Amino acid sequence: MRDLRISITDRCNFRCLYCLPETEAAADFYRRKSTDSTEAPQPIQHEWKPRSHFLTYEEITRVARIATDLGVTKLRLTGGEPLLRRAVPELVRQLSELEGIDDLALTTNGFHFDKHAEALRAAGLRRVTFSLDSLDRDNFKKLTGRDGLGELLTAITRARELGFAPVKVNAVIIRDLNDHEIEALAQFAREEALTMRFIEFMPLDSSRAWQREHVVTGREIRDRLQAAFDLEPAGMEHAAATATRWRFKDGKEGQGEIGLITPVSEPFCGQCNRLRLTADGKIRTCLFSLHEHDLKPLLRGNATDTDITDWLQAVVLKKEPRHHIGETDFEQPDRTMSAIGG
Ligand code: SAM
Ligand code: SF4
Repeated sequence: MRDLRISITDRCNFRCLYCLPETEAAADFYRRKSTDSTEAPQPIQHEWKPRSHFLTYEEITRVARIATDLGVTKLRLTGGEPLLRRAVPELVRQLSELEGIDDLALTTNGFHFDKHAEALRAAGLRRVTFSLDSLDRDNFKKLTGRDGLGELLTAITRARELGFAPVKVNAVIIRDLNDHEIEALAQFAREEALTMRFIEFMPLDSSRAWQREHVVTGREIRDRLQAAFDLEPAGMEHAAATATRWRFKDGKEGQGEIGLITPVSEPFCGQCNRLRLTADGKIRTCLFSLHEHDLKPLLRGNATDTDITDWLQAVVLKKEPRHHIGETDFEQPDRTMSAIGG
């Protein structure tokens, strides 16, 4: 395990249609798209626990330190929306001072990025990933439940100005919702020298409305992009990377890049080296884990670093070999992506 994803809150100011679809527009989309004649599945009722259930920054840093001693080299802060939590630069500073970390990144919807950008950079954050599913103001609002495209575009510009590199942008593509924007999103990456990553929609939405028909596969996206742009393979970042990468032969500053993340159509479970720590202190060994491992009692009890090290090693050995999306025995976990940390 080399990659620890740390969710620092399950709260979010967006209501993305593929994650927390709690808007009328989302309900309407799924109603119209449903091909299933059986009754609508029960939505996941998330329990909003008081903030005292969240790990403190000191507790998070302790877990990260122990994990780095065990070989983790990469940390990503995520959520929910991580920038809803107070004083995130303080956590970044603590984590960036850990020995053995060679990659510290943040995933954000970008809405509050601008006002924290400088402090995050000064605290030692080097990389940031934004979620941008649409370049059309109305469609963006339909997808995220928030009129926030302007803020996000400002955030992306600001990140580039401040020297965050690479600036990555994630887009979850859903059929008949934003698949007509694939070329426009790629063009944006080409013009702005960004890394644009197209992600297949996974069954981790709170409404449990995911269906295979909603998924636009990486192969389909690649075929469309190859027809529209001059692309060349860019190789894998490393053996456990999730994205297959393509470079624009004529991208601005030679940098624009496309990544295809295909957990549904071409799973990469065999190479997975990721662990997740939820905001309330559970270790998850897979996005689709049905069981999680509660670290908080150890952190808030008298456990020594050695106890936690032993515990983490035992947990890792229980990591699932693969997910079962698309199989009859697939069971969606009770946590949505927002409460796991993507
Ligand atoms: N709120 C931040 C954001 O949206 O960037 C960070 C947390 S969000 C859960 C992390 C990533 O998960 C986002 O890029 C989002 O697009 C992705 N995501 C959420 N639900 C998803 C789903 N059902 N399938 C695929 N990706 C999903
Ligand atoms: Fe959207 Fe991220 Fe919030 Fe989920 S956690 S609703 S993906 S902004």
